[in-house]
Amino acid sequence: MYGSTHREITAVIAKKIINFPSEYILPLCTNSESPDTIPDYEKQTYITAKGKIGTKKVRVRHHGTPYRIIRGYVLNARHYWLRDNKRKGSFRFAGRALHYIQDNFVPSPSYDKKLHDSIERGASYLNPEKFIQEENFEISIGKKETFRKIGEIKPFTDIINSLKNATKFSYIIAGSIFSSIFAPQNFNDIANKAFNKFKEKTGYILIYSIVLLLSVIVFSILKKEIGFISSIPSLVLSVMGLIIIISKDINLVLRIAQKIDIIVISSALCYIGFISYDLLTGIIQLPLFLGYYFSFFWFSNLRKIKGEVDWYIWKKD
Ligand SMILES: [Zn+2]
Repeated sequence: MYGSTHREITAVIAKKIINFPSEYILPLCTNSESPDTIPDYEKQTYITAKGKIGTKKVRVRHHGTPYRIIRGYVLNARHYWLRDNKRKGSFRFAGRALHYIQDNFVPSPSYDKKLHDSIERGASYLNPEKFIQEENFEISIGKKETFRKIGEIKPFTDIINSLKNATKFSYIIAGSIFSSIFAPQNFNDIANKAFNKFKEKTGYILIYSIVLLLSVIVFSILKKEIGFISSIPSLVLSVMGLIIIISKDINLVLRIAQKIDIIVISSALCYIGFISYDLLTGIIQLPLFLGYYFSFFWFSNLRKIKGEVDWYIWKKD
């Protein structure tokens, strides 16, 4: 899309977003144009003529952009928006996300150059504002829903639908980024139930954390370096568990609980590798470690809100 179209769509939607500070409309618009002048690059792997794997830097495509790039910008924008003193950073990320969102509603020039050019030209004559007045848009709430919307972005082969959807999706996604920093009541209630569940289990978590710490010591003595290295996940989990039971801060507790998943998945994969390396270490450590995770970090209220944790600030009841 033309730079002017990006700016116009962005200005129109920013004005319609409730509570969007008017002094930030300009920086948001400027950033919505920026990927054309300051491009993004990503590493791509390829196989050389000799059969070796090489990497090269390539420009991120503006048509058929990988969704993970748009999601990354959206998530960063939201994270900056949540932090009072860093809000300005939010407009850079959100602006760049909007650029890719808008471009992706236009077919790629490599697919059909004539069609691409005619849609870009046609869109520059239309006023995106009418697409917001015509429809009743709803601001999506939450990270999961916002990411689902990004997954729905696709090109249209006519001017009206390209511009209409570029405007509509820009509005929904930016509206979600700049929505209230506090979790909606229904999410917040579930989060409090999850927080209280941790507090109910304090004694058990403490005992199990101590058992995990002891296992780290025992394995380090028995198996030296291998024992210690293989115990690192248990060490990390027990420390996280201890912070969860000591802390009174619901945001800290939820954020730790959210991060545990990725630690458990990557560690479990490492352990499976360890089993072939040192059978005894793997066989004893793996159940101990998984047992801890499934006993304390696998319950329905936590699972319901886990994906949303870093999208909001949470309040304790
Ligand atoms: Zn572009």
